[in-house]
Amino acid sequence: MKFQKIRGTRDLLPEEARRWLQAESVIREVMAKYGCAEIRTPIFEETELFARSIGQLTDIVSKEMYTFQDRGEKSLTLRPELTAPVVRAFIENNLGELLPLNKLYYIGQVFRQENPQAGRFRQFHQFGVEILGSPVPAADAETIALAVDIYQRFGIAEFTVEINSVGDQRCREPYKTALRDYLRPRLAKLCATCRGRFESNPLRILDCKVESCRAETVGAPRFIDHLCQACADHFAEVRRLLELAGIAYVVNHRLVRGLDYYTRTAFEIISQQLGAQDALCGGGRYDLLCEELGGKPTPAVGFAAGMERLMIVLEKSGWSVESHAPRVFFVALGLEAQRWAFARARQLRRRGWRVEVDLLGRGVKAQLREANRQQAVAAVIIGDNEIAQQVAQVKNLRDSTQTEVPMAELEDNLSRFFA
Ligand code: AMP
Repeated sequence: MKFQKIRGTRDLLPEEARRWLQAESVIREVMAKYGCAEIRTPIFEETELFARSIGQLTDIVSKEMYTFQDRGEKSLTLRPELTAPVVRAFIENNLGELLPLNKLYYIGQVFRQENPQAGRFRQFHQFGVEILGSPVPAADAETIALAVDIYQRFGIAEFTVEINSVGDQRCREPYKTALRDYLRPRLAKLCATCRGRFESNPLRILDCKVESCRAETVGAPRFIDHLCQACADHFAEVRRLLELAGIAYVVNHRLVRGLDYYTRTAFEIISQQLGAQDALCGGGRYDLLCEELGGKPTPAVGFAAGMERLMIVLEKSGWSVESHAPRVFFVALGLEAQRWAFARARQLRRRGWRVEVDLLGRGVKAQLREANRQQAVAAVIIGDNEIAQQVAQVKNLRDSTQTEVPMAELEDNLSRFFA
């Protein structure tokens, strides 16, 4: 019996895992510059948390969640995103009481039973930020700037920041009415899903990917023309701050968040280097979610970004990471030499060097070949003679010169390679 990984999941083999580790540390570094602190929440939560926050009518909740019953017959779900878990943890741990402003970031696995394709998986990873406590436009602009800075820190230049405003409780209903009035005579030409959304969630019709729906909505009323004064001022200030920061953006009138607790700013960052699945990240303001999940009213803004999509773009841009090749390779022949190499290698590792010892009982030639394959800078060669004379042969693998060094001076001698 041979097992295979589940469709839509991936193994990160060592070389790729090393790139991920390096990428994660770059993300953490930028997060720290913005004063964001990491939060880690459980992989599974009560199903109801996601049903309430993401919404029963969304694809995620209606057909993509990995939901199961535990032995206590409780309905649990593998997290399909992290905003709801972070807000749940924020409320449960009274973080809003401890600090007036919480800037939390995460990096972790999420699960959605989607149709796998390039850039779309069933287990994937998201990193993201939730800024909880601030209603001001600067928080929205800072969230967008943080996402942009992460991509720029990787040297990625080719992406587009798209923004929009989806108003608030005051202006949403009048806008929906205007949108419905526009769509009503065109209803027959919309896809079945959009016809189903017409009453419940007409905003989502704007971001339908079906060609005929897109054609019908080209001239649809734009939300930014229907914002109440407070929302219009907020949006104008977000734009002003982005311009001040030199962050280029376009206003995309189709960019919507279909749920009621999303407010004002919505944004997405699109890469020209990804195929059909071209979103690097998406986010926005969600002033009403905390309350929806049983917490105190707390204005909030955040984004979630796909880690796999970032890695795809980095692969294309030739982003390279530091090598973990060993610096010193011990080539030992004979039991005494192997014992000595074992003990000495450990000493040097504890000093902070990367040291490799042969574990396959290979001959000298094969060990040296392996040292070269691993791109070590020096080989320390010892056999019975060297043990008897308390010396080692130190071979510079870059220029193939070899010197005999007393064992007591080995460390000093090797240090020259790392100066
Ligand atoms: P969302 O939570 O759907 O707004 O997604 C946020 C980001 O996660 C997207 O912009 C993508 O970069 C990434 N993403 C979403 N779904 C998937 C998926 N199935 N596979 C890989 N990445 C995804």
